[in-house]
Amino acid sequence: MTPYIELKNVNYFYEKTEALKDVSLTVNEGDFLAIIGPNGSGKSTLMKLILGLLKPMQGEVYLFGKPVSEFKDRACIGYVSQKSNSFNSGFPATVFEVVRSGLAKKTGLFHRYPKDAEQQVKAALISVGMQAYINRPISALSGGQQQRVFIARALISKPKILLLDEPTVGIDQQNMQSFYRMLTHLNTHHDITILLITHDVDAVSKSISHVACLNRTIHFHGYQQELEQLPDQQLEEWYGHPVRR
Ligand code: ADP
Ligand code: MG
Repeated sequence: MTPYIELKNVNYFYEKTEALKDVSLTVNEGDFLAIIGPNGSGKSTLMKLILGLLKPMQGEVYLFGKPVSEFKDRACIGYVSQKSNSFNSGFPATVFEVVRSGLAKKTGLFHRYPKDAEQQVKAALISVGMQAYINRPISALSGGQQQRVFIARALISKPKILLLDEPTVGIDQQNMQSFYRMLTHLNTHHDITILLITHDVDAVSKSISHVACLNRTIHFHGYQQELEQLPDQQLEEWYGHPVRR
């Protein structure tokens, strides 16, 4: 079976900073893969390489078996960037408008939407449990709710894989659990393969199928390694607190 995503011996530098060195990673259909690692270890950079926003200095990135530069079917990949849950009161769009924008096709100066856009928005909101908020201004929602809306926006183009960059920053413990249950539901009932960057080693361990760890000092550590196999001491060092299993 062709992997959905494959990175082979990838190196990436920002001017003088070596962000990724010799990183290899495979994501297969149905996986729910968590990427963990300390701040600055290259997690967001890794996602940008997968999205083709950055090009590796060395190594290869393949999407659905094709080199990323030749892969044109953008709708296959849904992406929610870091900090997409921080719209403050000045931002005028409603939840409906935010989710619908995931369907926009630009013709000249105008955005066009399919005729059944409203049904599609509703279905996407139902899949993240946010249908009751459709007419609310996005800025009136909590960080966790905004994150769900942006996931709905990513899901509306019917991607095969969802890339999420630290979606639970600023979400409290209780909402975090229900957030991960929602992701598990997408993974198991909607056949969405998930690649998630997170610091919630403990909370996420119940949901994921695999975990990969990035560490700039020891470089890639744990190729789709099971969480159980990671030494507690290593995790404690990274996160500054004991990790419950
Ligand atoms: P993470 O998401 O794991 O916190 P990043 O991928 O954002 O890590 O960053 C990896 C390293 O690259 C860090 O040292 C960071 O400071 C550096 N870096 C990230 N983006 C840029 C950039 N646009 N220009 C220069 N250095 C950057
Ligand atoms: Mg990051």
